[in-house]
Amino acid sequence: MFFNGRYIGAVKNNKDFVAEVRKLRRKGGLPGDLSVRSFGTAGEVVISTEIGRVLRPLIVVEDGKSKLTEEVEKELEEGESTWQDLIDRGIIEYVDASEEEDALVALEKDDITEKSTHLEVDIIDIFGLITGLVPFCNHDQSSRLNKGSKTLKQSLGIYAANYLTRLDTDVSILHYPQKPIVRSFIYDTLDIYPAGQNLVVAVMPYEGYNVEDAIVLNKASVDRGMGRSTYFRPYKSTERHYAGGLKDEIVVPDKDVSGYRTEESYKYLEDDGIAFVEAAVNSGDVIIGKTTPPKFLSEAKDISLQSKKEGSTPVRQEESGTVDAVFVTVDGEGNKIAQVRLRDLRIPEPGDKYSAPHGQKGVIGMIAKSEDIPFTASGIRPDLIFNPHNIPGRKSIGYLIELLAGKTGALTGKIIDGTAFCGDKVDYFEEQLRRLGFSYDGKEVMYNGITGRRMDVRIYIGNMYYLKLKYMVNNRIHARASGKVALLTRQPIEGRARGGALRLGEMEQQALVGHGASLLLKERYDSDKTTMYLCTKCGGVGYEDVIRNKIVCSNCGGIEAFPVEVSYAFKLLVDELLGLHISTSFELKNKFDK
Ligand SMILES: [Zn+2]
Repeated sequence: MFFNGRYIGAVKNNKDFVAEVRKLRRKGGLPGDLSVRSFGTAGEVVISTEIGRVLRPLIVVEDGKSKLTEEVEKELEEGESTWQDLIDRGIIEYVDASEEEDALVALEKDDITEKSTHLEVDIIDIFGLITGLVPFCNHDQSSRLNKGSKTLKQSLGIYAANYLTRLDTDVSILHYPQKPIVRSFIYDTLDIYPAGQNLVVAVMPYEGYNVEDAIVLNKASVDRGMGRSTYFRPYKSTERHYAGGLKDEIVVPDKDVSGYRTEESYKYLEDDGIAFVEAAVNSGDVIIGKTTPPKFLSEAKDISLQSKKEGSTPVRQEESGTVDAVFVTVDGEGNKIAQVRLRDLRIPEPGDKYSAPHGQKGVIGMIAKSEDIPFTASGIRPDLIFNPHNIPGRKSIGYLIELLAGKTGALTGKIIDGTAFCGDKVDYFEEQLRRLGFSYDGKEVMYNGITGRRMDVRIYIGNMYYLKLKYMVNNRIHARASGKVALLTRQPIEGRARGGALRLGEMEQQALVGHGASLLLKERYDSDKTTMYLCTKCGGVGYEDVIRNKIVCSNCGGIEAFPVEVSYAFKLLVDELLGLHISTSFELKNKFDK
C-alpha cells in the first residue's frame, strides 16, 4: 500500500479495502479529493491526496441505479439542495484520472447498466469548457473541434475591460464585438466578453479567390467596421543606477552623445524625453530618449567629451503606430520607468486570418467590391463568402447547422440555443424559416453581382459567428535585400525584428535545382563566400604570404597551393575540426577535366 508514493504498509484483501475506503469517502469520513485504486499483479493499493491532480465530478451509480433520484432532482429545482449538499450526501463525487480507470461512466441515465459505476452530470461535460462554447459541436468531427477550440483562444475581442489602463504585450481589441446569435448554454453561464461578429455567410466559390481555405470579404462590410481592430504594443525604458553614482537619464539626447541618431528621429520627443500622446510614429523614430553613462572608465578617458552613450528606445522595425498612452513610474528599486503604449489600427486586408469555431480557419483571399458580390432576391449581399469544398472532407456538419440556426435567429429576432446534444433542433429552424416565407433548407436564389444574371443553383446562405484571429499580415510581412550577417558564420541573421534574411533552405534549394536555375542557386549560396588556399602536394590548407607574394602551405611548407572558393561556413567547419585535432585534407582536380 502506497500513500502519495510512499510505502506505508500492506492489506490482505485489496479489493475490499479499496471499496471500503471509497464508501467512507462518500460518507464524508475521508477528504473528497482523496483517490484510491488497486492495480497490477501484486495488487498494490495507491492512495493519493497530492495537489495538482485534475478532478472531475461524476454522479455515483450503485446497483445499476443513479443516486441522483427524481426526488433529489426535485429538491434541486426547488432550491432545497445545493451542489455542496450533493457532495456531502455522496451523490456526486470528484474522481481523478487514476480512479477514472476503474470507473464505467454512463453518458445518460438510459445508458446505465449493471456494471456502471458512475453517471455523467451532463453529456456536454465530455467537451470541456472551451469546446462546449461551439454551437452544435456534437455534429462535428472531434479533430476539427480540437482545431476549433484552439482558434477560439486566438480570437480577438475584449480581453479585459480595463485594457486602457494596462500594458500588455501583443494584444488587440476588436472594435465592434458582438455576442453570438447562436450560442451554447456554457456561453451564458460563463458570461464571457464577446470575441467575434455575426456575419452573413454565403457558401459558394467566388472567382477562385476563396480556394484552399481562403475567404472573400465584402468591401462595404469592411468599410462599415467589420473585423476592425486595434493592435497595442508597449515600449519600456528604465533609468538604471550604476556604481559610482552614475545613472541613465531619460532626456532628449544631446548631439555630442556617442551613437547620436539623426535629429529627425528625435522629432516626436517632448522636453521630458518621451514622445507626446497621439504622435504618429514610424519604425526607427525614437519614442523614449535616453542617455547612459560610459560602462568602463577607460571608455570615458578615450572620449572625454562624448562621455555619454545613446540608449534610446526606437519603434521596432517594420512597425508603426500612434502613441496611445504614456506612463511614468518607479520600479521596486526606485528606478524611474517610462512606458509608452503604441496603438495601430488594423483594417482587414488580404492575408489576415479568420475562423469559424468549427475548425474552419482561413485567410482573406480578396476583399471584393460590394457591387460585385452576389445578392439574394431580397437584396442581401453576404459579408463573407465561404468555399463549399471545405465542408465534405472535414465533415463539419455543425458549421452548416449553425449557419441555418443563425439565419433563423436573425430573422426571428431570437437567441438560438446551440448547446451540444440538447439545443434547438434543425426541424425547428426549418419550420421557422418556412413560416417566414424562406426556403426551409436555407438556400436562396442569388444573382451574380458582376453580370446581374440569375445563378443556376440556389446558394446556401445564413448567419454565422466568425472570429478574427490575432495573426495579421501586418505583424508577419517581411522582406529584405542585403543586410546584417552573423559574426561567427558570416551568414545572414534570422528574424524579422532584427531585419534578418529569409532562409533558402534544403527544400527551396531542391526547387531551384529542379528548375535548372543553377546561376541563381550559386548566387544565393554565395552570400558568405571566402577563399581557401589548398596545397596540391599534401592537401593541407595554406595561406597567402603577402610580403613574399607567395602562397605557402602551412602543413608541408610547399608553395604549390591554389585559391579555391568555398563558403565561409565550410571554412569554419574545417577550423573547428582542427580544434578537435582532426586534420582535413583536400584533393585538387582541374575542373575542366572529365
Ligand atoms: Zn602542403
